[in-house]
Amino acid sequence: MEDCDRGFDLEARLGILEDREQRRTLSPVDRVAERGYFADPVGGDLPVLDADEALVFSSNNYLGLTDDQRVQDAARQAAATVGTGAGASRIITGDTMVHHDLERLLAETKGTERALAFSSGYAANVGTITALQPDVIFSDERNHASLIDGCRLADCEIVVYDHCDPSSLRDALETRAAAAESTGGSVSATAGAGADADTGDEDESWLIVTDTVFSVDGTVAPLSAICDLAEEFGAWVMVDEAHATGLYVDGGGVVQAEGLADRVHIQMGTLSKALASQGGYVAGSDALIESLLNEARSFAFSTGLAPTAAAAASESLHLARHSEAREQLWENVAHLRDGLETMGFSIPGESQILPVVVGDQRDALAFADGLRARGIVVPPIRPPAVPEGESRLRVAPIATHDRDDIITCLEAFRTVGSELGLL
Ligand code: PMP
Repeated sequence: MEDCDRGFDLEARLGILEDREQRRTLSPVDRVAERGYFADPVGGDLPVLDADEALVFSSNNYLGLTDDQRVQDAARQAAATVGTGAGASRIITGDTMVHHDLERLLAETKGTERALAFSSGYAANVGTITALQPDVIFSDERNHASLIDGCRLADCEIVVYDHCDPSSLRDALETRAAAAESTGGSVSATAGAGADADTGDEDESWLIVTDTVFSVDGTVAPLSAICDLAEEFGAWVMVDEAHATGLYVDGGGVVQAEGLADRVHIQMGTLSKALASQGGYVAGSDALIESLLNEARSFAFSTGLAPTAAAAASESLHLARHSEAREQLWENVAHLRDGLETMGFSIPGESQILPVVVGDQRDALAFADGLRARGIVVPPIRPPAVPEGESRLRVAPIATHDRDDIITCLEAFRTVGSELGLL
């Protein structure tokens, strides 16, 4: 027993990475430093960051609304009238009108009966999938970690299909349907139904889950084809619109852009990207939301979303529905995509996320360093976030970048790309 060590060798785990240098990332505070949030803190107690000028081209603040006076005022007003925190779970005493206003606006935007706000998008995904307890989940191979974790925690059968590939999804559904048939089961059109209590039928519940806009690939899921397949096989569809919410028609996501609200059963997203706040949501039928209220553990056993965050998200959503920021964003995206492609980079996908895939992770690091030296912040994305050999720079313009910013960014890409021999 004396030699026995049942502790955690964290040094060894860290050592798995090739060297410490590789773990180094750019400071996450670059953006706040640039905007000088802490430059003159109340009471002078907070540390003052070096206000190093930099243009961030990899933020999820897609509409630039974190800086918007109206959004900031909404948060301030909620703090002053409702309080800074919910104080308890929503099902205990943490429920406020600010939450309900947000949920009404989300449901209206998403074209659903109801919506429910969670304290994060991660909590929304994990809570929803575990509450539904599907028998089988069909999951795109590049889905976000929070969807994957939800699938794992739901303790169900998980079938992974090729990225954005309806024929791979069809194969997976057919194979699984044949297996169900051979054992006498069938698919239930009601996710989470499991065995039918009245008839004793061994109905299985199937759920297809996919991001709509993929955060490091920039690809957009073939949603209409996925809905066709779901209907053919009797499965439900759940989408993660984290990187799409607020950016498409009337402030909606890809579901709204493609007119699929009545064919997608669960629309999930975050409040933390284009909506410039913090938190997540699920939108769907009255029955879905009612069951999540009762059964999503990450909702019930977690303090309610802060009223300040809910109010900021409501104001942002209102602005996303009615403002010109969306058009400005898509104009910037087109300009940047065009410039990068003209240089010879091939940019996959068709969203606001423009991945410049350089392959080797050392090249990605060197590229990011070169850009940073020229005042452009685009952190490298490396394994395990992407497969080996697919390291990249995830370029994402925002609505508040102006023409000069885009040109500065493109010039930096041209210079650094040529210096590294990647053009
Ligand atoms: N889904 C996707 C696709 C995401 O990119 C993220 C956040 N990176 C989440 C869910 C989790 O959202 P949140 O940050 O609000 O927890």
